[in-house]
Amino acid sequence: MPRRRKAIVAGNWKMHLDAAKARALASAVAAAAPRMPTVDLVLCPPAPYLGEVAGALGLSGGRGASGVALGGQNCHHKESGAFTGEVAPGMLVDVGCRYCILGHSERRALFGETDAMIDAKVQAALAAGLTPIVCVGESLEEREAGRTEAVVTAQLLGSLAGLPAADLPRIVVAYEPVWAIGTGKVATPEQAQEVHALVRGLLASRSSAAVADGIRIQYGGSVKPDNAAELASRPDIDGALVGGASLKADDFLAIAAAFA
Ligand code: PEP
Repeated sequence: MPRRRKAIVAGNWKMHLDAAKARALASAVAAAAPRMPTVDLVLCPPAPYLGEVAGALGLSGGRGASGVALGGQNCHHKESGAFTGEVAPGMLVDVGCRYCILGHSERRALFGETDAMIDAKVQAALAAGLTPIVCVGESLEEREAGRTEAVVTAQLLGSLAGLPAADLPRIVVAYEPVWAIGTGKVATPEQAQEVHALVRGLLASRSSAAVADGIRIQYGGSVKPDNAAELASRPDIDGALVGGASLKADDFLAIAAAFA
């Protein structure tokens, strides 16, 4: 059965690799990408290597010949200013990015990002012309306490609080249960599908069922070549946000192929 929405598979390289390895990995993905025209592929390298990767992807301000897009892992909510160490959304666009991950659980947990901060970043990213990949997800403690729905609802609505309904079709959402990130513990396809359906319902409540039906929702958390196909078979799982497995071209491409 054809997919309802075009799949999107993004690699979050986090704080890994060096310039040469980043270039080699991007080149390997770019070489295989033309075989997967039904999947949007996105690579999110560490900020210092965005230029390297843009070069390897043949980008000149967007989607290059390879068809693989570039994304940031975070951005500031201001366009410029005295914010040492930060990256403005417009700067990401300037080096060829089309996407930016926002509200990743590591940013929330380790760097104190709140829903209000993420909300401001989402609006700034959109204003600069980026597609935000807005991350939400519960911790193990929250899941075990039966609070998954409440936590994901608060994060999603809070992170999109200032976003006009008309802009909702311009975002991607990533559901990433914190307990599954980097742990090797993947959510079952049923657990993931249940939360994805919840997220879609929340998006509908902010706009309409028709708008929500067009928004892509990725799953993230220990996605690997051997569990991707099952996740991909669920109706509301439209792709993956991949951490560890995105550092190996073959694994990342096998995951992408599961969504093709
Ligand atoms: C992530 O960090 O977004 C992620 C999903 O990591 P991993 O695939 O390694 O669990």
